Amino acid sequence: MKYLLALDQGTTSSRAIVYDDRCRPLAAAQKEFAQSFPKPGWVEHDAIEIWRSVQETARDAIAKAGIEASDIAALGITNQRETVLVWDRKTGEPLAPAIVWQDRRTSEYLSALREAGKESLIQQHAGLLLDPYFSASKLHWLLRDIPSARKRAEAGELAAGTIDSWLIYKLTGGKSHVTDVTNACRTMLMNINRAEWDPELMALFDIPRAVLPDIVSNSADFGTTDPEIFGAPIPIRGAMGDQQSALFGQLCASPGLVKCTYGTGCFMLAFTGQDPIASKNRLLTTVAWKIGDQPLQYALEGSVFVGGAAIQWLRDGLGIIRTAPEVNELAAKVTDSGGVYLVPAFAGLGAPYWDSDARGALLGITRGTTAAHLARATLEGIAWQVTELLAAMQKDAGRAITTLRVDGGASASDLLMQIQSDFLGIKVERPKNVETTALGAAMMAGLGAGIWKSVDELTEIREVERIFRPSTTAKDRRDHLKIWRKAVKRSRNWATA
Ligand code: ADP
Repeated sequence: MKYLLALDQGTTSSRAIVYDDRCRPLAAAQKEFAQSFPKPGWVEHDAIEIWRSVQETARDAIAKAGIEASDIAALGITNQRETVLVWDRKTGEPLAPAIVWQDRRTSEYLSALREAGKESLIQQHAGLLLDPYFSASKLHWLLRDIPSARKRAEAGELAAGTIDSWLIYKLTGGKSHVTDVTNACRTMLMNINRAEWDPELMALFDIPRAVLPDIVSNSADFGTTDPEIFGAPIPIRGAMGDQQSALFGQLCASPGLVKCTYGTGCFMLAFTGQDPIASKNRLLTTVAWKIGDQPLQYALEGSVFVGGAAIQWLRDGLGIIRTAPEVNELAAKVTDSGGVYLVPAFAGLGAPYWDSDARGALLGITRGTTAAHLARATLEGIAWQVTELLAAMQKDAGRAITTLRVDGGASASDLLMQIQSDFLGIKVERPKNVETTALGAAMMAGLGAGIWKSVDELTEIREVERIFRPSTTAKDRRDHLKIWRKAVKRSRNWATA
């Protein structure tokens, strides 16, 4: 029996899962770590604490599975993307806390770049929109803020990287300083067409090449873990950013296949194949994956900031439910939202609007409105945002999308999934294993280790649990979408007033 170990390093916790050679999960461990908010809009992580949590969860999962490190054929990493740090190549010590993807400290710096007319250069070279979300401005900030960092970076004394890169460095005992192409493409320093560090972008953000890792495929030889760490060396054969890993875990491997992860936010990726598509609808062009020396594959990506978090707001903010799953019972008490619309723009609106000044709006309330209507409007508000993302994807991809593959915590809601199918007018397909992020990393590692020869061989592993089919007419959908868009209009530009 050959086992695979997936390390899922997320924003709030690290998880490790041991799989058998048919990708059935055998044991898992999870550990939360501290979030630090030193100033308004700043979010930092202690990279050493992350590293410890990864080792602990990996050891726990191996022990729970009742196996030894030497039984593991390969290890795959998946991680929170865009979060970046700088460390000393000699000591392996970080020079400062990692700046997390949510951190907005570089907004002003980026506004200056926007005013200087750099946005189109960035979209053309990186496939991204000018936003603090991505790593480049954060790395620029670190190299400017840490005393003599830029000089030391130029001299090759420092290393920088996203979390994949940091973990691979630590796991290999400092032997490999690499990053995979899906993480690299989110830094805003990689050329999206060539999958290489882009000289113009490095110059724009003043980042020396010497500080950056080498860019490698998602399934490759990343090195071997230092035997001291787990008691025996484990080959690292897969690494990819969390959303791409979920896309792969859902086996969305031909054009037209789309997945949406319903977590705190909602992340939709559409696999588009070998040609990068430049979005006309404010979506991002991103690398889907690269397997060994096969051609690069691309995807379009869009995200909604508040997805399942809107359900948490019903629970923690309003107290009308005690647990997240209770939203379903409450919403099921009514057959529709009674004309109530909730636009969950609590943190602005993501794609396709990108309006950071939008704020939440609750519209259409009458004397007859109840908590049940509000619960239903909340589920609908999540589904409407996802509906708009899919419409943008469809326009950019220039093809009809016929099925949406779903995963993430809130995809457990049958009601939400049925509403989603009704709004989209297409099938919504939920797999048996909704832990697709870790699964994608395990599958990638298995490919790298030669357990499977091709992606086609993996199709047997994916099992569908349930398909939701639309029960609405095209006219219903158009009429409702119009009202939703009217509600969105009223939520926009609120914070500027
Ligand atoms: P993340 O990875 O972003 O932390 P998860 O994938 O764990 O998120 O999903 C958690 C979200 O799913 C929460 O926002 C919660 O409100 C929602 N959620 C969890 N279970 C259910 C359920 N049964 N019905 C509806 N929403 C749910």
